[in-house]
Amino acid sequence: MSPHSAYIHVPFCVHRCGYCNFTLVAGRGDLVEPYLQALARELEGLGKPRPVTTLYFGGGTPTFLSPNQLDRLCALVLDWHPLHKDYEWTVEANPEDLDAARVTCLVQHGVNRLSLGAQSFDKAKLQQLERRHTAADIRHAADLAHQAGLQVALDLMFAAPHETLAQWEADLAAAVALQPAHISTYGLTFERGTAFGSRLQRQQLHPVPEETERQMYLMAIDYLTQAGYQHYEISNFARPGKWSRHNQAYWAGAGYWAAGPGAARYVAGLRSTNHRSTSTYLRRIQAGASPVAEQERLTPAQRARETLIFGLRRIAGVERAEFQHQTGYTVDSLVAAELARFVDLGLLADDGHTIRLTRAGLLVSDSLWPELL
Ligand code: SF4
Repeated sequence: MSPHSAYIHVPFCVHRCGYCNFTLVAGRGDLVEPYLQALARELEGLGKPRPVTTLYFGGGTPTFLSPNQLDRLCALVLDWHPLHKDYEWTVEANPEDLDAARVTCLVQHGVNRLSLGAQSFDKAKLQQLERRHTAADIRHAADLAHQAGLQVALDLMFAAPHETLAQWEADLAAAVALQPAHISTYGLTFERGTAFGSRLQRQQLHPVPEETERQMYLMAIDYLTQAGYQHYEISNFARPGKWSRHNQAYWAGAGYWAAGPGAARYVAGLRSTNHRSTSTYLRRIQAGASPVAEQERLTPAQRARETLIFGLRRIAGVERAEFQHQTGYTVDSLVAAELARFVDLGLLADDGHTIRLTRAGLLVSDSLWPELL
């Protein structure tokens, strides 16, 4: 079946934040025009328009583009991915570069959801994370978006070095005060190959103690659910009816189109990923070559295992009967021993009908997935 979702990667940022390992180029506004041309050629490869119900522009920072460039990007993508009637179209934005002209452009094309990389409202924490915006920028951007009728999703980050529980609670309170439809919370990670990863190795940066990080995560769950947000996925919270439809398509194991440097798509059982290097991506497309760097065809059992893992990321968990109907496998035929072990350890709950993460399981979920694959 043709996917109903599409992701477009926009690989530009003013600078690279110390913790970021996303596919992007920093301070390369000169590459935006070649990127738009390359994207047009890549999308031509779709052969015909592929209508979708969810569309997501991520980055990088899509709002790094000028209003005119953003206008052309939206028009180009809509040519190839026209939207079904009841759609969700999300664009990621950084608070410091969202202005009225960009918001107007997005709304005119039909964008209805803005995902703001807020991370924190605390000046020192933002500086430490090497973010360039202020709390005032976040409030201004959220106001602009709300006034234009856009749903607002905020990303927050916890466990920055030296951060205390009280500081994290203040960030949660400041986020809730803006009344976004959706809040995502992520613990800071120190990835290899990032500036923060190197500073950690040189002991110039010190992560918060693991126990503090756990308490921060649990605090987010308790604080946001008490504020009326539904905790519907490990890192995601939303007002009723405002769950991210695009991400739900991923978690349901559905296929998705994708274009842009580093973008990964999953179409007809084939997962393929474009070159992560923006310059390689541009060069290959300019030379008439495929931008794809890797591809992998999953076996039905592999697909079923992935579907199980994505399903378990959702707080509602996995219904055994629905899983079997969707994948053709029973859960027990794939992971009976692991499931029994995780239930014994109190990390998964299994009532015979639905399997879901427990509160203890939520804290260590990342360590469970490799054992289920
Ligand atoms: S703004 Fe976001 S995407 Fe850009 S470098 Fe910083 S963390 Fe990465």
